[in-house]
Amino acid sequence: EKTSVTLLGLGAMGTALARTWLATGHPLTVWNRTPARVAALAADGASAADSAAEAVAANTLIVVCLLDDASVDEALAGTDLADKDLVNLTTSTPAQARARAEWARERGARYLDGGIMAVPPMIGVPEAGGYVFYSGSRELFERHKETLGIPAATTYVGEDAGFAALHDVALLSAMYGMFAGTAHAFALIRNEDIDPASLAPLLADWLVAMAPAVHQTADHLRSSDFTTGVVSNLAMQVAGTPTFLSTAEQQGVSPELLSPYFELMRRRLTEDNGEEGLTGVIDLLVQ
Ligand code: NDP
Repeated sequence: EKTSVTLLGLGAMGTALARTWLATGHPLTVWNRTPARVAALAADGASAADSAAEAVAANTLIVVCLLDDASVDEALAGTDLADKDLVNLTTSTPAQARARAEWARERGARYLDGGIMAVPPMIGVPEAGGYVFYSGSRELFERHKETLGIPAATTYVGEDAGFAALHDVALLSAMYGMFAGTAHAFALIRNEDIDPASLAPLLADWLVAMAPAVHQTADHLRSSDFTTGVVSNLAMQVAGTPTFLSTAEQQGVSPELLSPYFELMRRRLTEDNGEEGLTGVIDLLVQ
C-alpha cells in the first residue's frame, strides 16, 4: 500500500513534487496559502485541505515546501504536529534547520530536513540527475525513503538536522565559483572575433577534466599533508598569476572575480610551503 502524503506549499517546486506522488498513486492531501493553486492538483486527484491544520491532521507524513523559514513558521502555527513525520524541504540555513528540528521535537514530531539539488523540471525525471539531501531523524528517513525517493533520488547525510542545508550550500557555493570563472573566461573573449559557442564546449570539457581535483583536496585535508611536489605547486601557480592579471588588463576585463583568490594564494605562499598545492587556501578562509 502506498504511503499517504500531506504536502504544504504548491509553488513551482511543491507542485512538481505533488505531481510525482499523484502519478505513482500515493494518496495526496495538499494545502497552499493561496487556494487558487490547489485546483489543478485537485482535478488530478489530490485532496484539497481548507487549512494547514486540516492538511496536517490528514496524514502522518507531512512534507513542507515553502518559500523560506519564516513562511514555515507562519504555515505551521496552529497545527498539531504530535507524532507526525515532518519533512521540511524549504531552503534554510543549517542553524535554521537545527532550530526547526528542536521546534518540531518540542511539538512531538520526528524531523527530517531536506535540501533540493534540482530545479522543478528535474523533479520526477531520474535521468536529469537531481536529488535531495536529507538530514535529521534516521528513523524517519528509513521509514519513508521510498516515498521520498519518488520526486528525486535521496542522499542522507547525517543525524545533524543542519547537514542537508550545509551540503546544499556547499555544493551551490562551488557552483558559483564555477560561474564566476566562466564569466571571466567569456569576458576575456567578449570583444574578440571568437564565437562564444566555440568556447563553450572547450570550457565545459575543461571543467569536467579539472573537477576530480577535489579528491586530491580531500586527501590533503584528511592527511594534513598538502604537498603536491613539483606538479602544479603553489610557488609555480603564484608565479603564474601576473599572466592572468596582465591578460585581463590587455583585454579590458576587470580582474575582480579572480583577484581575491590570487590574493589568498599569495598570502599562503611562504618560503617553506612552495610545494603545497592550493589546499592551504582553505585554512586561510576558516576563521
Ligand atoms: P515559489 O515562490 O514558487 O513558491 C513559494 C511557496 O511558498 C508558495 O506555495 C507560497 O504560497 C508559499 N509561501 C510563501 N510565503 C508564505 C507564507 N508566509 N505562508 C504560507 N505560505 C507561504 O517557490 P518554489 O516552490 O520554487 O520554492 C519552494 C522552496 O523550494 C524554496 O525554499 C526554494 O528555495 C526551494 N527550492 C526551489 C528550487 C527552484 O528551482 N524553484 C530549487 C531548489 C530548492 P502562495 O502560493 O500563497 O504565494
